[in-house]
Amino acid sequence: MAIPDNHPRAESLRIRERIIEGMHEKVVAEAGLIAHGRGEAYDYLLGEKTPNYAQKQQEVAVAMLLTSKKPVISVNGNIAALCPKEIVQFAETTRAALEINLFYRSEERIKAITSVLKEAGAKTILGADPEYHETLEEISHLRRIVDIRGIYSADVVLVPLEDGDRTMALRRAGKKVITVDLNPLSRTSLWSNISIVNNVTRAIPEMIEESFKLKEKNSDELKDLINDFDNYKSLQESLNFMSSRLRDLAEGKLEDPTKNL
Ligand code: ATP
Repeated sequence: MAIPDNHPRAESLRIRERIIEGMHEKVVAEAGLIAHGRGEAYDYLLGEKTPNYAQKQQEVAVAMLLTSKKPVISVNGNIAALCPKEIVQFAETTRAALEINLFYRSEERIKAITSVLKEAGAKTILGADPEYHETLEEISHLRRIVDIRGIYSADVVLVPLEDGDRTMALRRAGKKVITVDLNPLSRTSLWSNISIVNNVTRAIPEMIEESFKLKEKNSDELKDLINDFDNYKSLQESLNFMSSRLRDLAEGKLEDPTKNL
């Protein structure tokens, strides 16, 4: 569907179209549409802009990826539909492996996502070849299948838009977990080492830029950034941001678009 440029919510509608197209192409699971809608609702609370607290979360996340021994980025259908080129570029700048990992796993979806990532420039994609499959025991569903060359042996895993069970399993398996999740109250946000409470469509391009800046710093400076970070406090900051924004709007900052009618 063509969305007129002057539509007040053109950008959001274009992103929504990408998710819908992704579903028709079997890249996105049906439940991915629901997850996207929940994300959109939280993004309203942020004013659809990256807040300062999220810039900090993103900076620390990049520092952790750059100082890790074996970073892996887990890709699901929504990520492949929303920001394929960006996720491939981000993996390159942080030397991370890309691994497809799906809650609703099927060969058809693995193939569809593989071809999206290849088109976006990915050279190596883990998670598709059964020869390298291993299982993370703590999880009961198909998402327990991971690649022995990737998530299974990783020290740091970026799992954008993840479900809580797997995040908990990754933590219990001793991995450092970074997530991007607009919902600061999700189990994933609560269980991650670093939770980026921002829209993934803004967070990934901003983290690519950040990685160029942080590459100029030495590893002690990067480690200090990580050691000074407290995910629990950072989630409180994101909740404070949302609640004070809502309070400001409620107390008079909300513009009445009908006042000049
Ligand atoms: P949990 O199990 O962690 O408590 P959940 O099972 O509800 O959460 P999912 O249904 O897998 O988690 O949803 C993934 C999360 O991704 C949701 O919390 C949603 O807010 C978030 N989300 C959806 N779209 C985006 C986006 N574009 N950017 C960032 N976060 C998003």
